[in-house]
Amino acid sequence: MTTLEIRDLHVSVETEAGPKPILKGVDLTVNSGETHALMGPNGSGKSTLAYSVAGHPKYTVTSGTVTLDGEDVLAMGVDERAQAGLFLAMQYPVEVPGVTVSNFLRSAKTAVDGEAPKLRHWVKDVKEAMTALRMDTSFAERNVNEGFSGGEKKRHEILQMELLQPKIAILDETDSGLDVDALKVVSEGVNRVKENTGLGVMLITHYTRILRYIQADQVHVFIEGRIAESGGRELADRLEEEGYDRYLTVQA
Ligand code: ADP
Ligand code: MG
Ligand code: MG
Repeated sequence: MTTLEIRDLHVSVETEAGPKPILKGVDLTVNSGETHALMGPNGSGKSTLAYSVAGHPKYTVTSGTVTLDGEDVLAMGVDERAQAGLFLAMQYPVEVPGVTVSNFLRSAKTAVDGEAPKLRHWVKDVKEAMTALRMDTSFAERNVNEGFSGGEKKRHEILQMELLQPKIAILDETDSGLDVDALKVVSEGVNRVKENTGLGVMLITHYTRILRYIQADQVHVFIEGRIAESGGRELADRLEEEGYDRYLTVQA
């Protein structure tokens, strides 16, 4: 069992005008096998939370803690966080010129495991994962993110997750820009990894649509830098009907 624990997290982002406080006391615990949906309006700080746990240099933790099985995540470098079992798709560069998907995945796997995967198993694993995600094998020879469509980027994200076998994954708007077919394939991928490895998931999303395909154990409403309410799946249905108005201090 693995536990990601976020306690009273305060984070500022570096802007030209100086540091701007964004996260204002986030508390969240994600255990192996659990899926937590984090929903909230644009600009509420959901991505800031993901970036902060990932160790993005632009985000400064001013107070609070993040631990993985008691280990201080905030003291770890970005690579160490991945080695500890955290999967954060955004930590990887947007485009990696001249590096094929195949080579990228293999070096990421080597970095996370501390040793190169055995070639024969690896080739088979990659092939199986790509087939499951309904990706053409020629995709492996393309350069990372170069000319990828929105759907290809998301599939590549889930492909990484399937192969790296993390303990806890943070998926930031994995559903945005996907048509229903792609959404199903991507969701099946997440469910497969959950089932096979007991992955814990923090699913950041703007829409309740993805929750039809990925079962969330808990839904959290993220407002103005903190969690305003937590509940079960019925909370997502309520959000779909009512929106976020009742949480906002200034009514729109
Ligand atoms: P969400 O993912 O919920 O839409 P974000 O975490 O992206 O929210 O943004 C939260 C707030 O922080 C917004 O007001 C946004 O403008 C601000 N912010 C985030 N990153 C930066 C940045 N690099 N520079 C300036 N402001 C930022
Ligand atoms: Mg946003
Ligand atoms: Mg965001």
